[in-house]
Amino acid sequence: MKPLARIGYGFDSHEFQSGIPLKVGGITLAHDKGLGGHSDGDVLLHAITDALLGAIAAPDIGALFPPSDPKWKGADSVIFLREALKRVRDAQYEIANIDSSLVLAAPRIGPHAASIRTRVAELLEIHADCVGLKAKTPEGLNLENAAIAHVTVLLQAAKSKKTTKRAKRKSKR
Ligand SMILES: [Zn+2]
Repeated sequence: MKPLARIGYGFDSHEFQSGIPLKVGGITLAHDKGLGGHSDGDVLLHAITDALLGAIAAPDIGALFPPSDPKWKGADSVIFLREALKRVRDAQYEIANIDSSLVLAAPRIGPHAASIRTRVAELLEIHADCVGLKAKTPEGLNLENAAIAHVTVLLQAAKSKKTTKRAKRKSKR
């Protein structure tokens, strides 16, 4: 039988590089360095994408969008997130909530946390109070030039349209 709930976990890291914009959670932050590597380097969206894919045991972001394919160089990571969300829905699940931790020395995430949560919620089509975001500095890790994201997601079985209609009729009575 199909599980009523499924958990997903995603991890990602990227190295800071000069001369590129810094994208985190689908928004651009003012900083003198951005994140290099796969696509636009949006470490948070990549970890969320992998958490969603992992929850339904789908192939991961690297398998679906190989970094070796020039097509994805500089690509908007929202494309990856949307594909993962589509697969979640095709598997008849919806997102209950997500939680995330960002680990980076700079810039400070606090002042941008609300905008990041709002943007991520909008992309996932859930409420902002279902998007947890903590930012930490890499104390004792000697990782001043990297950004790391850890994400967990909880999926719940989607209510079928039939059930929704019946529920509507019931509430009308
Ligand atoms: Zn990545």
